[in-house]
Parts: sequence; structure tokens; C-alpha cells
Amino acid sequence: MNRKRTKITPQYEDMGDEKKCKEIWKPENWENVFENLRKMRVIRNAPCDLGKSDTSKFSEKERRFHCLVALMLSSQTKDEVNHAAVTRLKEHGLTVENILKTSDEKLGQLIYPVGFWKTKVKFVKEACQVLKDEYDCDIPRTVKDLCNLKGVGPKMAYLCMSSAWGECVGIGVDTHVHRIAARMGWTEKECKTPEATRNALESWLPQDRWREVNILLVGFGQQICSPIGPKCGECLNKDLCPTGQKWTPSPKKKTPTPKKKTLSKYKAKYIKEVVKVLKEQYDCDIPRSVKDLCKLKGVGPKMAHICMSSAWNEPSGIGVDTHVHRIAGRLGWTQKECKTPEATRIALETWLPRDLWVEINWMLVGFGQEMCRPVGPRCGECLNKDICPTGKNWVPSPKKKVSPKKKVN
Ligand code: SF4
Ligand code: SF4
Repeated sequence: MNRKRTKITPQYEDMGDEKKCKEIWKPENWENVFENLRKMRVIRNAPCDLGKSDTSKFSEKERRFHCLVALMLSSQTKDEVNHAAVTRLKEHGLTVENILKTSDEKLGQLIYPVGFWKTKVKFVKEACQVLKDEYDCDIPRTVKDLCNLKGVGPKMAYLCMSSAWGECVGIGVDTHVHRIAARMGWTEKECKTPEATRNALESWLPQDRWREVNILLVGFGQQICSPIGPKCGECLNKDLCPTGQKWTPSPKKKTPTPKKKTLSKYKAKYIKEVVKVLKEQYDCDIPRSVKDLCKLKGVGPKMAHICMSSAWNEPSGIGVDTHVHRIAGRLGWTQKECKTPEATRIALETWLPRDLWVEINWMLVGFGQEMCRPVGPRCGECLNKDICPTGKNWVPSPKKKVSPKKKVN
């Protein structure tokens, strides 16, 4: 890792009559790099950006508890899956008292399939008891006290202080922040652990950026600077980042495949055309009906229904993507075989209660990514194995009966 391009900023501290010179290491060009990160994350559409919607119907105390539980469930879990689990918990009643009244079995069903769900049921229950006994059903207000709760580590505690209490007392460093900080040369020395990265970043990054840096880097790590094969070719920091400077396009994939190239070309064209229509016909807002949304270039029924629900908070229909289409078919949730997602949407809407239309999309998309995958669904671990027609016919593969990591908690 190239750590030569650094800048030392002398800072002077009053020490009585003396002035002591304190040298603070800072990565060169970090402001430009930060600005580029903001540009690349201007559209908050990474998985980690889910669930920042309406919280007004909950009290402040409940909202803080929601933040804590969401963080406790988040480890080893995709954001989409976590978001769906927290949504189910909220519908069930996500308060300390209600969770304590909920059986472990029910709680497990509500949070499944988050990673290590059995252990998390135990930790959440234990934490609730502590919150009830010692914090009047609120959550602790210090990193130290948060870390005393089972299943809460420093990363979660710092994020919790910021999201629940609005007090950013430290940078939440997860694997994304840890990895990207190293790749960008944002730590003076190599840091072996996220906790070391947190200390290193906090030594030079101004405190008013601590909260933002987590939000920026987590989404950036999910979309561009991924653990394997970072897309340095698309990164605005390619020429400022030590890793990007050494990056060479893979010989196999020198240029985007024709399909991808064509798609991004079309998307850029569609966005331009849509922006023009929005400006001319909708006063720079977006249409408020599926019909009008579908008139926009590049917007189909699935997008329109999801948009009505996420943008207008008015669910108009089920957003059926390939996951929902596939799983509905496997579960036997359509009376006849549906050849297209649109046919599946119509079939599901004939019988599924309207108040479940938004949730079914989140649930099945996350479930399809984690469990009921396109190839090799993990029926052996699925709670619906004995109810689902596909699960009933499932036989364990002779090579890989059960993954040991997921088996025990
Ligand atoms: S240039 Fe590559 S390694 Fe550096 S921040 Fe961008 S994507 Fe990550
Ligand atoms: S049993 Fe298998 S096919 Fe059926 S829903 Fe579960 S993972 Fe999907």
C-alpha cells in the first residue's frame, strides 16, 4: 500500500506559556476524495440505504430501540433481509415489553432468515431484559453501556449512538469502511482490525464528517469498491486512490460487455428523456399513478408499483421482480403457471391481502437472495420446506448436506 502521499498539518496547542506543536497526519487530497465519494453516493440506492423511511408513528424511545435491534440483527446479514425482518418486528410490535412477551419461537420466525438468527433471538431477549430492568425500557446512552449488552460490539455501539441518540461520538467501522480506508490509504499505518481503523480515522478526519463517512463508505463498498474486484475503472477516485492507481482492467473484461454497454447507454438516454418530461409536465416532481409512471421511458409496471409505494407511500400493486416471480412459482402461490412477472403480479393480487403487498416484495427479494436462490435453493434450512411444493420434493445434495456455519448457533 502506498502511504507516501501524505500531508502533515502542524497544530498548536496551548500548554501554559509554551506552545506545543502537534503534528497530525492526514492523507493527501482527502477532501477531494471525500467530495467524489459524495458524488458517487448522491443517489442513495445501495442496500444499506433501505429503511430510512417514516418513523413518525413511533415514540422517540421506541425509535431508539428500533435502531438498536436493527443493528443487533445486521451482522452477517444482507441489508435487504435485515430491513424485511425489522419491518416484520415493527408490525408485530417492536417494544421492549412486547418482545419480552414474545416466545423465542415466534421471535425466531419474525427475524428469520437473518444470519445466526437463533443466537440473535437469545441476545435480543437478554438485551430487552436489561433495558427493562436498568433503563426503563430505553437504551443506554454511552458506548460503554451499549457494549455491555450481549451481541453489541463497538461498531454497533458507535452507530447506535449516532442513529438512535443523534450523538456521533465515534466512526462506525464495519468491514466496508475498514477495507476501503485501507485501499484509499486513509490510515497512516496498516490497521489489522476495524477498531484500529476507527482510531486511525478519528485521529485526522474532522468530527463533523464521522457520521457521513460511514454512510458513504458502506454503500460505496456495496456498489463500487466491493470486497472482490473493486470497480476502480468506474470510480471517480481512481487517480487519487493508491489502489486505483495500480488498477488495470481485467484482460477478460477490458471493456463492458456489449449488453452492459448498451444497457447503460439506454439508461443514460432514458434518464435524460424522463428528466425532460418531469420538468415539462410535472413541475420537476414525479407522476402519481402507475399509468403515468409507466409512460416514462424505461419504467415498467414493477418499477412503477415499487415507486408508488416508496416515493408516494401509496402501495398500488405488488412489485414483482425475478425473485418474487420465481419464489411465488416455487411456493405454488399462483393458481396456474405464470410465464411473466406481470402475470405473477396479477395472480398474487387476486388473493394476497392488500396490506401485505409492500412487505411481500421486500421479504421475497431478500429471501430469494439468501435462501430461495435461483440455482440451488437452500430448502434444507427453509422453514417452509414441508409446506412448499418444491421443498417437499427437495433432496439434500450428496456433497453439501448442510453448511456447518449456518447449522449451529
Ligand atoms: S479506486 Fe478502486 S480501490 Fe480505490 S476507492 Fe475506488 S473502487 Fe476502491
Ligand atoms: S422450501 Fe425451498 S423452494 Fe420452497 S420456499 Fe423454501 S427455499 Fe424456496
